[in-house]
Amino acid sequence: MGRDGFQCDTCGSASISVPGRLEQNSDVTCTKCGRILSSWDEYKRKIGSMLRETTPGRRPTISDPIDW
Ligand SMILES: [Zn+2]
Repeated sequence: MGRDGFQCDTCGSASISVPGRLEQNSDVTCTKCGRILSSWDEYKRKIGSMLRETTPGRRPTISDPIDW
């Protein structure tokens, strides 16, 4: 793990929790230790650019409301 995705700096868990009602400044937290990892807006941008790099020209089928 590490380069493949988003993970907690504190416990290394890749399991994140997002609030039910998403807003730009909602907190994305670690499911394991509860640490706030980033805002939803920042998280979206990180994951979005990561996915674009790993799957160029393709739009992965994910259910999260991520901006592309
Ligand atoms: Zn954690």
